[in-house]
Amino acid sequence: MKSIDELTDVAGKRVLIRCDFNVPLKGEEITDDGRIRAALPTLTALRARGAKLVIMAHLGRPEGEANPKYSLAPVAKRLGELLGVPVALAADVVGASAQATVAALADGDVALLENVRFEPGEASKADAEREALAARYAGFGDIFVSDGFGVVHRKQASVYDVAKLLPAYAGYLVEREVTVLKKLTVHPERPYVVVLGGAKVADKLAVIDNLLAVADTLIIGGGMAYTFLKAEGLEVGRSLLDETKIAACAGYLEQAKATGKRILLPVDARVADPADIDFGGRVLNGEVAIVPTTAIPADKEAADIGPETAALYAAEIAAAKTVFWNGPMGISEIAELSAGTKAVAGALAGSAAFSVVGGGDSAAAVRAFGFDEASFGHISTGGGASLEFLEGKTLPGLAVLEEA
Ligand code: ADP
Ligand code: MG
Repeated sequence: MKSIDELTDVAGKRVLIRCDFNVPLKGEEITDDGRIRAALPTLTALRARGAKLVIMAHLGRPEGEANPKYSLAPVAKRLGELLGVPVALAADVVGASAQATVAALADGDVALLENVRFEPGEASKADAEREALAARYAGFGDIFVSDGFGVVHRKQASVYDVAKLLPAYAGYLVEREVTVLKKLTVHPERPYVVVLGGAKVADKLAVIDNLLAVADTLIIGGGMAYTFLKAEGLEVGRSLLDETKIAACAGYLEQAKATGKRILLPVDARVADPADIDFGGRVLNGEVAIVPTTAIPADKEAADIGPETAALYAAEIAAAKTVFWNGPMGISEIAELSAGTKAVAGALAGSAAFSVVGGGDSAAAVRAFGFDEASFGHISTGGGASLEFLEGKTLPGLAVLEEA
């Protein structure tokens, strides 16, 4: 990959940059700006060299339609505060507003296009649709810089296709992430424990095969745990469940047994009435109970691992030499449902193992709990991207930079 250190002569040039600004929001308030901060080294360096910055980013999953709920307005404001210059937010992605905003840039100015996922072509499976959109993005830049590590596993117009149309470089964040994550793939010290949680159940179940091949122990928490428990014949009440993946989970448990690996599942859980969980307002309006996972009530949702599970997982982490953790153990945004995630984070922070935390929500949880980032080996901005990297997969957004 070509480094932006090579870009010494960019004064007056338009540099089109893909960033990952997919930050957690509570209303319009950004609850963790870690991903925006992570982009600052690249943005500051290019501005200092006199480039005009045109930034592309996404927020949430608006599914190809403009939707004010997913506007990047809060991001533009926060980025402006952090950079100390106003950030001009276009009202659209590639329309008249975007064109005017880019045309108005002076050297060192910063523009942000509206959420690229407002455009149906961005994440289209049809190459031609993505390429057509990428051609319009390319019209906004003389050079392309890829710095959104959290999206480099996506074959999307602003990540992959546009990189083929302009001279393409890796930003400092992408460079750093790749350097650190490589350490986990080349002779990791054992025992090597991978802790998986979070809510993207289908996505994350898909990586388990390959993780079982590299890690010694898989610790499962968060939303995906309940599909595993169902596969073991337990009832999971109203907990997150992917019916289509039960058989696959049974298969993973078999595979682990056959290869001498271990998959650890929660033995107890914090359960609540789903109607009491106000995710947007980040509050629980009712009671939490701790139950063994063999006795999850039919009308309750398991929303965090229980204390016995937390102690078990913490001991496992304490004995490991290498740990990768992706995905909260429960709904960690809500205080009453955050103890399991806090326990895992604490075990990681206190261990001498080389530890990497990956994933937007996991990283946000670690920071929200007030842990010192320095007590972790690395906090990755990418969840899915870091997982796929660890699996040894070719990530489209990195491969395209290597070819450039
Ligand atoms: P990351 O961003 O770290 O990769 P994900 O995006 O996969 O993690 O998942 C984070 C989300 O998972 C959080 O919003 C959290 O509330 C949710 N979550 C974790 N455990 C559960 C659970 N048991 N039930 C429902 N949601 C959960
Ligand atoms: Mg997430």
